[in-house]
Parts: sequence; C-alpha cells; structure tokens
Amino acid sequence: MLAHEDVLLNRARLIAETPIPAVERAGVLLPLPLTGPYDYKLPHGINAARGMLVAAPIGSRESLGVVWSSPEGNVGDNRLKIAEPLEGLPRLPATLCDFIDWVAAYTLNPPGAILAMALRSRGAFEPEARRIAYVKGDTVPARLSDARRRVLTVAEDGLARSVPGMAEDANVSPAVVRGLIQRGALKPTELPEFAAFRTPDPQFAAPELNPDQKSAAEILRGAVKEKKFSAHLLDGVTGSGKTEVYFEAVAEALRQGKQTLILLPEIALTVQFLERFAARFGIRPAEWHSDLSQKERRRVYRAVMGGECQVVVGARSSLFLPFAALGLVIVDEEHEQAFKQQDGAIYHARDMAVVRARTENCPVVLASATPSLESFVNAASGRYSHLKLASRHGVAELPEVRILDLRHEKDTDENAKWLSTPLRHALEQTLAAGEQALLFLNRRGYAPLTLCQACGHKFTCPHCSAWLVEHRYRRRLACHQCGYEIAAPNECPECQAKDTLIACGPGVERVAEEFAHFFPNARYAIASSDTLHGPAETQAAIRAFAKREIDVLIGTQIIAKGHHFPQLTLVGVIDADLGGADGDIRARERTFQLLHQVSGRAGRAEKPGLVLLQTRNPQDAVMQALANSDRDGFYEQERLYRERVAAPPFGRLAAIVVSGGDGEQVRVIARQLGKAAPPAKDIKVWGPTPAFYSLLRGQTRERLLVQAAKGVDMQAYLRAWLANVKIPAAVRAAVDVDPISFF
Ligand SMILES: [Zn+2]
Ligand SMILES: [Zn+2]
Repeated sequence: MLAHEDVLLNRARLIAETPIPAVERAGVLLPLPLTGPYDYKLPHGINAARGMLVAAPIGSRESLGVVWSSPEGNVGDNRLKIAEPLEGLPRLPATLCDFIDWVAAYTLNPPGAILAMALRSRGAFEPEARRIAYVKGDTVPARLSDARRRVLTVAEDGLARSVPGMAEDANVSPAVVRGLIQRGALKPTELPEFAAFRTPDPQFAAPELNPDQKSAAEILRGAVKEKKFSAHLLDGVTGSGKTEVYFEAVAEALRQGKQTLILLPEIALTVQFLERFAARFGIRPAEWHSDLSQKERRRVYRAVMGGECQVVVGARSSLFLPFAALGLVIVDEEHEQAFKQQDGAIYHARDMAVVRARTENCPVVLASATPSLESFVNAASGRYSHLKLASRHGVAELPEVRILDLRHEKDTDENAKWLSTPLRHALEQTLAAGEQALLFLNRRGYAPLTLCQACGHKFTCPHCSAWLVEHRYRRRLACHQCGYEIAAPNECPECQAKDTLIACGPGVERVAEEFAHFFPNARYAIASSDTLHGPAETQAAIRAFAKREIDVLIGTQIIAKGHHFPQLTLVGVIDADLGGADGDIRARERTFQLLHQVSGRAGRAEKPGLVLLQTRNPQDAVMQALANSDRDGFYEQERLYRERVAAPPFGRLAAIVVSGGDGEQVRVIARQLGKAAPPAKDIKVWGPTPAFYSLLRGQTRERLLVQAAKGVDMQAYLRAWLANVKIPAAVRAAVDVDPISFF
C-alpha cells in the first residue's frame, strides 16, 4: 500500500537523529507553507531541542513555531531574530515531528503546512489560566462564631474550594468566608484551569466474548503489550462484535499506561460510540473534531500532550495530536472514503494512521466488515495479521439478498416508477407483520436533473459542471457541489415555454412521494445529509425509527451504518447500479461496500432479514457477490483484476489537478505541465484532460494522471517534474498521491 514508506521513514529518522548542537541557534519550523525551517537565535542559556515550542517573529508578526532541525548557518548571527521558548509547555514529541516530516514528504506538501494541522488548536499554547481557591490557613482567630467554626470544620478535609463553594458546603453566607480569608484563617491556593481527565477503567464492564472474539482479542492484547509496530485487519460482518474486540486492546493499553487513538470516519457516528465506550469503561473518552469548542479543544490538546488524557476518539485531524505516550491506534470503518482529506494537504487518514503507529512503534488495528482492497491484500499477503470474526454476535442469520431485474419487471401500476411490484409486495407484508423497512437510495433531493421537454435545456450550475438537483419540499434547485441555489422555475429560461419542465430520475424525496402514494397510512421519514434534512432532523428521524414511531425510513448512505434497528427486516435498494459505472477503478469496490453495509441493516435481532436489490445489471459481479453472500469471492475477483491492470495496490497512482479562475490559463499551464513530464521507465503520464468536474466552484480544472509500477519512487519523480514548471500564483497544482476518486 505505502510503497517506499521505509525509505521515507528512514529519511525522516535521519533528520530526527541528527543531533542539534548545543549552540543557541536552531532551525525553527513555522506552521506556514514555507519550504522548510528558518534559522533563529535562542535566548542566552537555552539549548535547542527538537519539538521545543517557541514564539518566533516573522515580518512584523509573531508566530508559533517549533524547533525542528540544526541551523542552516548561512545567515550571520547579527541578522537572526530571537525565538522565545513558550513557558510551561512540554515539547512536541519527537515522534510527532518525525510523523510530520514523513507526511510532508509523502504527500509533497511543505512540512510547515502539515505542522499547521498539528498546531491547529491555537488556544492550547496560551498560558494556562489558573483559578484561585481556598484551603485552611495557618492562623485561627481567637473568637469564633458558629458560622465561622462551621467553615473551618468544612475546610479540615484540605480540599480547595472557591468562596461560593466553601459558603455552600458550610451553609453560611459568602461574607463569612471572606471574613476568614481577611484574618488569614483561610489561605489562597492555585488550581489548574481544567478539571483533571479521569482514566477509563479497563475492568469496568468486561464483556463475555465468543471464541472468535476471544482469540482476536488475545492477539491484540499481546500486540499492545509488545509495544512494537504491528498492523491488524479486524475483519467481521456487521454485528460480529468488532468493537468489543478492539475495546480489549484499549483496556490493555490502559493497563500499560499507554494512550489510545480511535479514528472514526464521521462525527455523526461519535455520539453513539461515546456511549458504547462509557458502557464498557465507565466514562466517556475525550473527543476531537471540528465541532468542539475552542475551550474544549484546548483542554483535550493539553491533556493529550501532558499524557493525562488516555483515550481520544476523533476525526482524521486527531492523527496530528501530540500524544505523550501513544500505545495503540484504531481505525474503525477503515474502508470509508471520508478518511481521505481532499482539501488543503491531501492525505488518507487510514494510511497515515499506519504510518503514525510505525513512528510511535505501536500496533494499529484497522476494523471493517468490508475492508478496502488495499487492506485485504495486505492481510492476505501476511503483511497485516488477519483477524476474522466469522460468527455473528447474537442469533440472527445473514439477510437473504434477492435481485430484482428491472429490465423484466413489467409494472402493472402506472404510478409505480421506482418501487417495483415485488418490492411493493414485500413492503406490504413487512408492514402487515408490524415490522420495519428501509428504502435506500444514495441520492439527495427530489430529482437529479430538471429538463425542458420543448427545447432540451438542462438546468446546470453556473459555477460547476454539475446539474442542479431539485429539492421539491423547499421548491429550490441546488448545486450539491458548491451550494448555488435558485427558486424552482415555472418556465424554461431558454425557450420561455411554460409547463415543459420535467424532473428526471429519482432522489430520496421522490421515492418518499411514491411510497406515500402506495402506502398512505404508513408512517415514514426521510434521512439524508441535506440542508433541509440537516444533522438534527436526520438524527431525529433515526431515533424515531429506532423507537418504532415510524415504520419506514427512506434515506441516503447516512443510514447505512452505526445504528441498531431490531425490528428492521426489509431493506429495499432502489437503484443498486448507482455509482457503479463511472469508470473509476474503485467504483465497484465502493458500490459493494455500501450495498453490503446497507444490507447488513436487515434482520439484526432474532428476525431474519430480506434485502431486495433493484438493478438493470443482475449479472454484475457486485450484484452476484451480494446475492450469493460471497464477499471473499468478490474481493478475489477484484484483486485479480487490479493485478492484471496494475492498478493500486499493485501499481501506483498520483493525480495533479491544475485549477484556477481563468480557464484558458489553466489549460495552458496544464499542457505545459504535461509536456514537462520527464520520461521515465515504468511511469506513464496521462492527460491533461478536463477533470470529472471540469468546473467546480468557479474554478476550471484539468487533470493529469501518473501511473507507475509498484516499486517506483513516485514522490521523487513528482518532485523532479514539478520543479521544472513555473506555476503562476493564480493557478494551483494540487498533488494527490494515491487518489481514491477521480472527481
Ligand atoms: Zn425550453
Ligand atoms: Zn455549483
């Protein structure tokens, strides 16, 4: 998967191991996209050490910086500015500095741009605000009123209390407490700004594990104890109890006094996860994601750096936290695309999690019911240990998956556009039995395209090469790429004809409309990640479904995972072909993963489930694998295919997306870039061609694709290439090493 990781890691280590001499100057890395560290002087008597946090003047400002490397030494002492160490803060761990260097080298970003991600909690570096509280003083007044005596009795326990806290505990007015402070009978003491983090209790509620779980947990516990790098693929169907297994590894890390990082693909999943964690360990873990308040970020960051916070659950940005003693990394739902960061520095958090574990010399666990092909191949080759949980936790069987061939479904009812006759029958039976159903379509809104029947005009976004999606409830047409919206029009802007506009294709709203037509008495709700059906409304719909207040949930991939619905026995997939045919090397894998996950929703308790897949490609490998529950067969087929065409993980890919506001300029630069590609053995460069979204948020986009054999040093090639071309400031050339999609 990560070819050359050893080479790059060694390179990073070389930097790390170069001793920084005990002179009072050093290379300081600033969290800015500069080429590398800048030389600074340190105050008299301070010796440089990698990871030391400093305040460094740059221009007329001051920036946070980190002592990074030996000084370049080509600038005279008298011209160097002084960087002041920040007081009271530990250094950034050397392992984190190594990791930052590695990620920068691998993703072809300046190290300062990666450092910026590690220092994102700016508030964390300000001096700690201390609170004043009071304890028993050294003098006792000669005469004591009852009230004063009560206060001093309360203060006997030695706990520090605020004035109101002391007054409340002694049942006196604050004035009494203040009087005692004045007389020295109570004395002030400083408390830290934040309450201490409590350590999760590894013994709190250890579960009974089945034999599969037991042996997997044993291996993971052993790996944690070993305190060495190892990688494990924890592979088991939905409900096989993967979380319980990796919680045993977390428990072991806690016993060893080591910290754990658990990466989840989406914040939406964390609430449920935190509760699960608390049920096992007695308290919730710390969270890290973009929704946290500044204050909470500051609290978590410092506690992670100080080693007081033992377990962090976070989104991909938590990879860059300064763990003092990281002993375990877990990536749950490791196959999820959400782990790929597409903005700014482009990286894959799952791959980087493996690298972080290597730099920390600790185990990493990748968990999934439908692993990425990369991880599957790594496990098959023995590079990762393959921990399989075959038996389903509890008694439910895997759902039965049936294919509905839409080419042969002649519908008897002209109102039926998206719900075929067999699907409607199954819905009837499910509702009659008092059970629940899920209708899945991975498309938001009402219809993906609005078309004029008279002149053929299609409504598209003026800023993106994308159709406008109709949202009928809101009477809007919206671009899902940039958020551009217009009111739903009454006439065609091209030919001015009225009543000629038609909605093409379904979104979840349209499926809901048809469902309501056929089942006027059923209770249903829509769940999609939409501006209308936002996170709160979606969560409410999911909760209502879990509590059986509604019978049918109609939704996009937001409903695909993380929820238990014991009465859900029928899953209808409206369009199983969606997303399967866009020529992307990973399209089939992704479709399989998504549909497998959605199917897994059905029949999780004692009731067997049924999944109906509506498709026009019943012979497709994805449909066949789902219908025959032949996951490993599908993976094997996919593996052979990728091997044959030398696609990842059997070959390497990188993309360069050239973008800018001036379309002509972008095309010129992209062509220059294409021509400048150095010829090399085992490397092919394709393009430039217009990107899938050739216009996105007003930016014209051209794409170049680099395909290389597995052993090729892609980064070295790209670096040499890009150094040859001058890219003007108005144009951006974003490098995506190991791209996972081709938008
Ligand atoms: Zn028209
Ligand atoms: Zn747009």
